[in-house]
Amino acid sequence: MSNVKSNPTKTEVAIIGGGPIGIEMAIVLKRAGVDYLLIEARQIGDAFMQWPANTHFFSTPEHVALAGVPVHNLSQFSITGEQYLAYLRTLVEMYDLNLRIYEPVTAVSPQENGFHIQTTPWRGPQYYQARYVIMATGGMAGPRLLNIPGEDLPHVSHYFAGPHKYFRSRLMIVGGRNSAVEAVLRCWRVGAQVSLSYRQPDLNYERIKPHMSMDIGDRLRKGEVAFYPSTVPVEITPTHIILASTEDGVNPNGSTQKVETDFVLLTTGFVADMRLYADAGVELEGDAEAPVHNPSTMETNVPGLFVAGTAVGGTQSKFKYFISTSHDHVAKIMKAITGKLPDKLGTIPARNNAVTWEEVKAN
Ligand SMILES: Cc1cc2nc3c(=O)[nH]c(=O)nc-3n(C[C@H](O)[C@H](O)[C@H](O)COP(=O)(O)OP(=O)(O)OC[C@H]3O[C@@H](n4cnc5c(N)ncnc54)[C@H](O)[C@@H]3O)c2cc1C
Repeated sequence: MSNVKSNPTKTEVAIIGGGPIGIEMAIVLKRAGVDYLLIEARQIGDAFMQWPANTHFFSTPEHVALAGVPVHNLSQFSITGEQYLAYLRTLVEMYDLNLRIYEPVTAVSPQENGFHIQTTPWRGPQYYQARYVIMATGGMAGPRLLNIPGEDLPHVSHYFAGPHKYFRSRLMIVGGRNSAVEAVLRCWRVGAQVSLSYRQPDLNYERIKPHMSMDIGDRLRKGEVAFYPSTVPVEITPTHIILASTEDGVNPNGSTQKVETDFVLLTTGFVADMRLYADAGVELEGDAEAPVHNPSTMETNVPGLFVAGTAVGGTQSKFKYFISTSHDHVAKIMKAITGKLPDKLGTIPARNNAVTWEEVKAN
C-alpha cells in the first residue's frame, strides 16, 4: 500500500463501508474474480457495536443472511448484534476479503477514467485509485438531535446503552417505535420507573414487532409505564423534563407539563452523513438527502459511482431500506459492473422467498 499521492494503490472497485451490504458486495465481486478493496472507517459491523448487549434483531435470521451463507443459531429466532458481528467476521475470514479497517474515506474525486480516493487513518493519509466506487456507508452516522435546551446534560442519552444503569431510577424515554418500545420493556423489567413520551396519540401497534406489541400494550394499559401521548419534549433540566402537548405530532400547542425524572433517553432516530457524496458531486434529494441514482443500476449521477444499502435512503424517516431490502442493490451493481448477476445473495435459495433479489434475477 502506498501513502504517496502520486503512487496510489490501484483497484478496480473500491467499496466504502464495511457494514453488511459492503461485505456482501465484496463477497460477490470476489467470487466473480473482480479486483476490489473494502474500506471501513472503523471496524466491520460498526453499527452493531453501538447496540446494547444482548439486543436482538427485529428481522429473523434469513433476512439478515448475506451472500447465500445462512445464519444458523441455537434458538432459530432472531439473533443478537453480537452474534451478527461473529457472523460478519466469519464471512470476512471465510472469503479472506481484501479489507482495510480504521480508514475513514475523506475524499472521493471523480477523474477522467475512475476515481481518486483519500483515507485518513491514524497513521496518516492513504491514497487509492479505482475504476468504480460503491458507497455503502449506511444511514445512521449520528443521533437525530431535538435541539432543545438541556439535550446535552449528562443524564440525557441518545443511545440506549442497556437497561442496567436505570435500576431504581426514574427514566423518561422519548419515542414510539420499536427501539423505544424495546428500551421501555427492558428498563421496566430491570426495575426502573419508566415513562414514555410519544408525539402521536397512540403507539402504532401494527408496526411494533409482534413479540413486544402485546407486552407494551399491557404495561401501558395497567399504568406500569406512565404514558404521555401527543407530547414533545421542549426542555430538559437536571431534575425535570418539560413536555408540550402537540396536535400535529410536531409543533407544541402552548400547553406544557413538568415531569420529574433522573434520566432521559431520546430514541428519536438517527441521521445519515452525506457530505462525502455531496463533495464527490452526487446530487442529494430532499430533506433525507437521498443520493440521486438510477434505480436499475444504483449508479448515481456521477458515472461509475454507485450507492448501496441503507445509504440509498439518506436519512430515512420511514424505514424502506434495511438489510433484506438491500440485496437488490448488490445484484444491480454487480450486473452494471460485470454484466452478470451474483449466483447467491441473502440466505440460501430454499429460504430466499423471504427476500426480493429474485426480482432482479428475473429481469
Ligand atoms: C436497535 C436497532 C435494531 C435494528 N434492527 C434491524 C433489523 O432487525 N433488521 C435490519 O435489517 N436492520 C436493522 N437495523 C438497522 C441496521 O443497522 C441496518 O439495516 C444495517 O446496519 C444496514 O447495513 P448497511 O451495510 O447498509 O450500513 P451500515 O451497517 O450502517 O454500515 C455502513 C458502514 O460504513 C462505514 N462508513 C461510513 N462512512 C464511512 C467512510 N467515510 N469511510 C469508510 N467507511 C465508512 C460505517 O462505519 C459502517 O460500518 C437496526 C438498527 C438498530 C439501531
